[in-house]
Amino acid sequence: MNEISIKQKDIIEKIQRRVYSTDRVIGILWGFLRRKPKAEPLDPRWLDIWLKYKSKAPGLLPQKLIKNIDKEIDSIEVVDGEIWKIKINSDTKITFLLGAGASAPSGIPTVDKLLSELWKRARKIGRKDLDKLAKWCDERNITNIEDLLTAAYISKFTATNRAITSLLDYFLFSRRRELEEEEKEYLVTRRRRALITSEIDVSSISFLQDTLQTLFGLLTGFMISASPNATHNAIVNFIKDHKNSSIITTNYDGCMDESILRNKMHLKGTIGSESEVNKPDAVQLIKMHGSINWAYCDSCQVVREFDLLELKETYEKDKLSFPVIGICKNCGGLRRPLLVPPLSFKFLMFPNLVDIWNSANQSIEEAGYLIVVGYSFSEADTYITKIISRSISMNKNQKMIIVNTDPNLSTTLRDRFSAHIDKFDKKRILKACESCEKILPNILKSILGKKDAKRISKSTSKS
Ligand SMILES: [Zn+2]
Repeated sequence: MNEISIKQKDIIEKIQRRVYSTDRVIGILWGFLRRKPKAEPLDPRWLDIWLKYKSKAPGLLPQKLIKNIDKEIDSIEVVDGEIWKIKINSDTKITFLLGAGASAPSGIPTVDKLLSELWKRARKIGRKDLDKLAKWCDERNITNIEDLLTAAYISKFTATNRAITSLLDYFLFSRRRELEEEEKEYLVTRRRRALITSEIDVSSISFLQDTLQTLFGLLTGFMISASPNATHNAIVNFIKDHKNSSIITTNYDGCMDESILRNKMHLKGTIGSESEVNKPDAVQLIKMHGSINWAYCDSCQVVREFDLLELKETYEKDKLSFPVIGICKNCGGLRRPLLVPPLSFKFLMFPNLVDIWNSANQSIEEAGYLIVVGYSFSEADTYITKIISRSISMNKNQKMIIVNTDPNLSTTLRDRFSAHIDKFDKKRILKACESCEKILPNILKSILGKKDAKRISKSTSKS
């Protein structure tokens, strides 16, 4: 496989970091295209760069050269040609892995935009403590909800264990302590400070719990009313023709479930649907991080799955508000939504989900093709990356199709697997660098050998 050179990547990254003025970008692009070896492919990121800078080109380059650049940029392969050659038979197991990008067209913000959206909603509640937290995060440029939730959970956990708190203080602030040792003359100050760090404000724990609950309530508010988009429907249509498929999703929303249910199919693999296993048309849907219609009881650990479509209907008709906290029918304890926040140590928090994670693992290992849609392999999900990495290294025939607008993702994955797997064939990772609701329906039709599958070209998709 011909690779994009380090030099090319470097130029693109510098342009994206705005190292160069507009005039220079056009000069550099033209210079690069002129000198580049013919076999070296162009990075899809040039499409956006050219789209942005093209209007400035007429004053700087002759019309003929602009046309040449246009032609070169137009030849960029957004979707790996190999994808259109894939043909499967009924034995080929297909596993879909969906991430936030799959639900984004349904109006659910992706992780990077979630926090700012949540603060917007939180302001409507008019709670001073939340406003204060929002302001504090804003001032420190904390924009990732993963960071906020992880910190909140760690605090909640350590707050009940003094030894851990002191150890954290020791590990994180050992340099500060050394400095303090040196400043013996400020003995009194030091004592006072030591006292402050070792005592925890009890009210802060309940504030944290309350904050997380409120933020979660707001989070689910986005999701309960979201409807399936072309991505979800394309997957359902595909599964109608190819039963040997399963779906894994890290999304809590009900879009994938709804699309399956509205097509009069059944679900299996969700937390409360054991009874559906024997239905011949039951689609395996594995929701790794929980679901808006799942609830668990803090006291008796019983998990309950509610009918998603009923839940949506009662909410939309305003018959009942969507309950974030309820009362357990089993024991009278507090029932909370079974949603795994984007944390780095999910496994510790939700033993209820172990079976679900195991079936996700199995489903990944069995796949002939793993079709990854709008999933970005985030830092907080290292365990999914590890499952996939192990599966790819064990099963030499397994291939992945990465449907993601980020052109770096497939390159990063190819590099990562090459580093871990001996003689890794980079062609096993195929990319479709295009928004999933546009390209996935066509890829899936093509895989099934349907005649109406269109290869979308960037000239139509970018306009
Ligand atoms: Zn209970």
